[in-house]
Amino acid sequence: MTQRVYNFSAGPAVLPEKVLLQVQEEMLCLPGVGASILEISHRSGEFIAIIEEAAANIRSLLSISNDYDVLFLQGGGRLQFSMVPMNLLRPGDSADYILTGSWGKNALKEAKKVGQTRVAWDGAEFDFDRLPADAELSLDPQASFVHITSNETIEGVQFAAEPETGDVPLACDASSDFLSRPLAIDKYGLIYACAQKNVGPAGVTIVVIRKDLLSRSDAKLPGYMNYQVHAENDSLWNTAPTFPIYVVNLVTRWIRDEFGDLTKLAEANRAKAATLYDELDASEGFYRGHAVPECRSMMNVTFRLPSDELTSKFVKEAKQEGLDALKGHRSVGGVRASIYNAMPLAGVEALVDFMKDFARRHG
Ligand code: PMP
Repeated sequence: MTQRVYNFSAGPAVLPEKVLLQVQEEMLCLPGVGASILEISHRSGEFIAIIEEAAANIRSLLSISNDYDVLFLQGGGRLQFSMVPMNLLRPGDSADYILTGSWGKNALKEAKKVGQTRVAWDGAEFDFDRLPADAELSLDPQASFVHITSNETIEGVQFAAEPETGDVPLACDASSDFLSRPLAIDKYGLIYACAQKNVGPAGVTIVVIRKDLLSRSDAKLPGYMNYQVHAENDSLWNTAPTFPIYVVNLVTRWIRDEFGDLTKLAEANRAKAATLYDELDASEGFYRGHAVPECRSMMNVTFRLPSDELTSKFVKEAKQEGLDALKGHRSVGGVRASIYNAMPLAGVEALVDFMKDFARRHG
């Protein structure tokens, strides 16, 4: 077997080794089934047991009450950029978007094609290095919903707490921090997350939606785009992405077995992030973090070196040391270390050792 690297990819991203080994072991024959997960019907009793356990585990990890449905959809985070306004935007009303980075901007771009929108705060003037205080938001009390991106994967800023939106439902793109920490679920109308960062492979997107919002879905919407259709059919209106859902189920079991609950997992994630940010702060300006300290992401640590040339050298040499996929997003450059749930502390420590050595040689 070839050596596995420490994989700092922003997504699809590192998965727990235990989960991968179990997938490998069960690939030919799911225990008690006599066939592979890739070969069985999405309506078989065996698969129904898997999707129900995955939903139950997500519910239990996040303490989601029966006031909410948990859906497994396809189309990635980006399809939700359209589905959220298509379902939640009431005729004649507008939706508020809080823009804290590239993904929030992408979400707004799609929403504009669906209906009326307003920008309640725009971090562009700060180069998306911070988040708004509640007092800075210009929220419309009549808005159909307020949209946020809880963690901006490209810039590396993350809300520590939800903005206060009163009676207006909060819709949140949690694609890059879902199941990485506990959430006050009752503050949300809807949460969506593509799986391929913290919770599984690409191909499934999880939507947690407050049931009373389902009545906003117009029956004239195309079937796949209608949350109510998916809720009424327990996410089996069409052929569900069976393999990704199976892996999500194994990842939720891994979280439970390894950490017990999301409070413990969040502590582990905070410790990993602190290890990296401490190194940035101790480097006397050699490594410059993008986010202001109060808004730093626990998931995507973004920073720059003194020159683009040094950045390229850093990424290349790190790869040779088995520290992979550290190149920042093509739109912003620099370095990005994505340290999702499945990245072990040892991986972050190896990166910090490399950073110290690199700064010593080039500082
Ligand atoms: N939102 C966020 C915060 C993301 O990080 C991403 C993917 N990087 C997306 C949405 C888009 O997800 P997908 O590629 O699954 O459509």
